[in-house]
Amino acid sequence: MRYQRSSALFAEAKKYIPGGVNSPVRAFKAVGGEPIFVKEAKGAYLTDEDGNQYIDYISSWGPLLFGHAHKPVLKAVVEKAKKGTSFGIPTEIETELAKLAVSMVPNIDKIRFVNSGTEACMSAVRLARGYTGRDKIIKFAGCYHGHSDSFLIQAGSGAVTFGSPNSPGVTQGTAKDTLLANYNDLEGVKELVAANKGEIAGIILEPVAGNMGCIIPTDEFVKGLRQICTEEGILLLFDEVMTGFRLAKGGAQEALGINADIVMFGKVIGGGLPVGAFAAKAEIMAHLAPEGPVYQAGTLSGNPLAMSAGLAMLTEIDQNPQVFESLSKKTEYLHNGITEILSAKGIAHQINRFGSMVSVHFCEDPVVDFASSAKGNNESFKKYFHGMLDQGVYLPPSAFESYFLNDAISYADLDRTINAVSTIF
Ligand code: PMP
Repeated sequence: MRYQRSSALFAEAKKYIPGGVNSPVRAFKAVGGEPIFVKEAKGAYLTDEDGNQYIDYISSWGPLLFGHAHKPVLKAVVEKAKKGTSFGIPTEIETELAKLAVSMVPNIDKIRFVNSGTEACMSAVRLARGYTGRDKIIKFAGCYHGHSDSFLIQAGSGAVTFGSPNSPGVTQGTAKDTLLANYNDLEGVKELVAANKGEIAGIILEPVAGNMGCIIPTDEFVKGLRQICTEEGILLLFDEVMTGFRLAKGGAQEALGINADIVMFGKVIGGGLPVGAFAAKAEIMAHLAPEGPVYQAGTLSGNPLAMSAGLAMLTEIDQNPQVFESLSKKTEYLHNGITEILSAKGIAHQINRFGSMVSVHFCEDPVVDFASSAKGNNESFKKYFHGMLDQGVYLPPSAFESYFLNDAISYADLDRTINAVSTIF
């Protein structure tokens, strides 16, 4: 049996870990069946516990821009580990990574490191509230900003699959300060702002969304948000946990040509180790403890292992900016190949792509927001997902997720992937 050992490991895991996993989407709830358990990975390939190999299109959900076990990152982490793994005392490498990140990203002077994207978004919103003296935020249906309470209001990603967009445990008191708008709907935002004049601290969004599949913002939408924020004294918060250092050196701010007021990072900035970060102009960051009164802290924040992985990763990107062009071309090749097959077979579909983020939706109409994404045919998606898995291609196990290509994927891998699609439908 192809997945025998994975299946046994899953059964064992379920005895001791809720649902057998430490993050819900890994459990394959959206696509049915059981998850594979990974034994090891190198470059573009995952190997599972049964010895099956897969071309990996999730790259640890984004961080691994150059593929698995990338040598410079590994070397940096191993060397650093020999000198101690955590001190809770300042180290030089924190400043080195901060300095490099600030030099690569537009419109930021200072950055604070945390341990996950969730922490970054949660802290950024607190900072926006502390800075503006206002309580409310606007978020968009289908955008995911981690699992902190304020964001579990019509969130994307795994939260959609589990049918609990308003998760039990999130209080009404918290929920009332999160106002909801639809992605790409500027008029809806204008109405919310008018109805809550002087009360909105920030508008938070995924500048290119990846948690309801990949959804691209219209130019009018992002420019309009920037204008509203500037006019109304609202801070524009770009959640660049997925897009930061993936769409361009300077992330979505650079790719879209829009400056945000606070920018949040995760994934690539940690090179595959647990790192998140949030950044802004010095004037805003001055409100953060210990410089200012907005409290935020972390025992393992800025720890040397995570910083060394992040530094190796960003250094590599800084020195090889052509990686974005390379990734973009590969993603376009995949997009065109899949389009050709699905079109030839007359299967209704939409493919959304921005740089190295891409998603396939089985529906007739363009996917521009959460409602249109949710119209995708999940039966077709399941068939597609499992058909690909059985042929050694690991795709995100939910239609509400984006693929993240890594540059270790070759054109031969892409051809194999495209051929695999042709056998399914
Ligand atoms: N923001 C976005 C846009 C994300 O995609 C994610 C995670 N996928 C998060 C925040 C939360 O990051 P983490 O899982 O590291 O807490």
